[in-house]
Amino acid sequence: MSLDYCPRCGKLFSRTIREICFNCHQELEKDYERVVQFLKENPGLTLNELSDATGVGVKQITRWVREGRISIAMAPNLVIACEVCGTPIREGTLCESCRRRLAKEVKRIQTPVVRREPDASVSREDTYHITDRLRDR
Ligand SMILES: [Zn+2]
Ligand SMILES: [Zn+2]
Repeated sequence: MSLDYCPRCGKLFSRTIREICFNCHQELEKDYERVVQFLKENPGLTLNELSDATGVGVKQITRWVREGRISIAMAPNLVIACEVCGTPIREGTLCESCRRRLAKEVKRIQTPVVRREPDASVSREDTYHITDRLRDR
């Protein structure tokens, strides 16, 4: 267990599986429920409209979509951006062409997997965390 500053509220907390403190996690869960509820009542909203209406950031909603917590089937107009080129996509992190290009590159390089992370979802969250931080600068 290690101490870290919560990236959301700046308080010191003991970092376990979550990258934010318990309070922020609770608040985020409330935000999440609000967003989902709002989307149920207004399924035609776009990402920006949903963000404006609920006060929850576009980045956070995007993350939930990527994590599969917000179902695209629920929101036909909700699109997120490809992390590489910004093309609107419906799920995941990359658009079709970036995915294909990446798969090709991986094949070409043939990097052996040295070490597997014990928990894939945790490492993925960390990746988001780092890119979010970079974007904020
Ligand atoms: Zn916090
Ligand atoms: Zn792309």
